[in-house]
Amino acid sequence: MEGFNKQDALRIIPPVNEILECPEVLVLVERFGRELILDITRQVICEYRENIDMDEQFSEKYNLQVRQGVTKHIIKRLNEKLEGHSKIGLRKVLNATGIVLHTNLGRAPLPEKALKSMQDVGEGYSNLEYDLEIGTRGSRHSHVELLLNRITGAESAIVVNNNAAAVFLCINTLAAGKEVVVSRGQQVEIGGSFRIPDIISRSGAKMVEVGTTNKTRISDYATATGEETSILLKVHTSNYKVTGFTEEVSLRELAALGKEKGIAVMEDLGSGCLYDITNMGLSYEPLVQDSVNDGADLVTFSGDKLLGGPQAGIIAGKKELIERIRENPLSRMLRCDKTTIAALAAVLNLYTDTDTVVDSIPVLRMMAMKEEELLRNAMELQKSINDSLRNKCKVEVIEDYDEVGGGSLPGVVLKGKAVALTASGMEANELQARLRGEKYPVVCRINKDRVLLNVRTLERRDYPVIVESLVRILG
Ligand SMILES: *Cc1c(COP(=O)(O)O)cnc(C)c1O
Repeated sequence: MEGFNKQDALRIIPPVNEILECPEVLVLVERFGRELILDITRQVICEYRENIDMDEQFSEKYNLQVRQGVTKHIIKRLNEKLEGHSKIGLRKVLNATGIVLHTNLGRAPLPEKALKSMQDVGEGYSNLEYDLEIGTRGSRHSHVELLLNRITGAESAIVVNNNAAAVFLCINTLAAGKEVVVSRGQQVEIGGSFRIPDIISRSGAKMVEVGTTNKTRISDYATATGEETSILLKVHTSNYKVTGFTEEVSLRELAALGKEKGIAVMEDLGSGCLYDITNMGLSYEPLVQDSVNDGADLVTFSGDKLLGGPQAGIIAGKKELIERIRENPLSRMLRCDKTTIAALAAVLNLYTDTDTVVDSIPVLRMMAMKEEELLRNAMELQKSINDSLRNKCKVEVIEDYDEVGGGSLPGVVLKGKAVALTASGMEANELQARLRGEKYPVVCRINKDRVLLNVRTLERRDYPVIVESLVRILG
């Protein structure tokens, strides 16, 4: 190609339309949507032009001879870019781990009604801080307070960003510059950086430890209580169990001591169930209602653990204390967004109908799933994989153990069912990685060289998506 110059190189770049009509690109359009592919193709062409322009010693390297060569080069770059693109941003993933409250996967999936309410409130304006009756300024806390009072039996309630914030805010409001008494058996650390001693010191209070790791008595609390004591704190050891020679002071006893001495008693419940899961045959997890009933002045718990709602921290308790907490300037910094309040209110509303609550809240429904249903679902998934991938993959239905997760119910396992995959010609860990690389990444575990898809945490509507991914990877 004699005399091939920059102009020629620029001239043979195919137009965007032509690239988009290539069979390899049509597949990408189908998978990622036209808009994204168009966008990235334009970007790639633009970069290619710039490279030619900026190359002082224009060289033969842009002489990809014919247009076909350039097209090929552009499609290659397009694929590289897409790979990088698909790894960024917050995206939907399919949870095939069988862990219902997976903190790394965003904890609780939200109920339909909550999503609807978030959309309604989020797409326009709302009465977030507007009293529709009087037509003046209102309070964002009002939308959930009455519901919380009704469900938990507390006098008052306030909602903040998460339970860590709730604990911090309570201690800061009531005990900054004073003392918080807590048992050595309850120095909880929750994943990440939530440690009770750190939270107390950051709240500006001094921690007074009582008892030992395995035994704490009411007399220990009584002895440690003095002029400076502002809170008697009980922490639910939600992610571990102390067993053997142990003794713990009940909330009721602690509440009696608090009352006698005029000191607030606070319980960090962590998960904070509003529905009694012993109805599902699971072991008792403290109910917020019980804590309120047993005399806690303040109870804090998460919105996105067993409650099954959005990320939030709820403080329920005595009116006078909640009032002080509300007036703390820090509560402004820790307040929730309108969509969170919308979702939480919708979820709490579901709790007011005890007959339908388990079915309407995904976390509860997944926890309550019976063996027959799990088996039926696993067989359905097995069949659709088999129908599309006969001979390319061995597909078995096996027994497996699921978990509640999210630092709740330590040691409790749920009998589950999984679809176990053994691909011909692909190692389990490669298949696992490839599933993570899909448009809707599937997060799953491996056991005995098989990829496991635990059906408890998958929705049936996700099955075709999983099958499509497997066909792309193995087909
Ligand atoms: C989970 C948990 C927390 C932290 O709650 P977040 O909502 O994740 O901030 C605090 N205390 C206990 C006991 C917990 O289990």
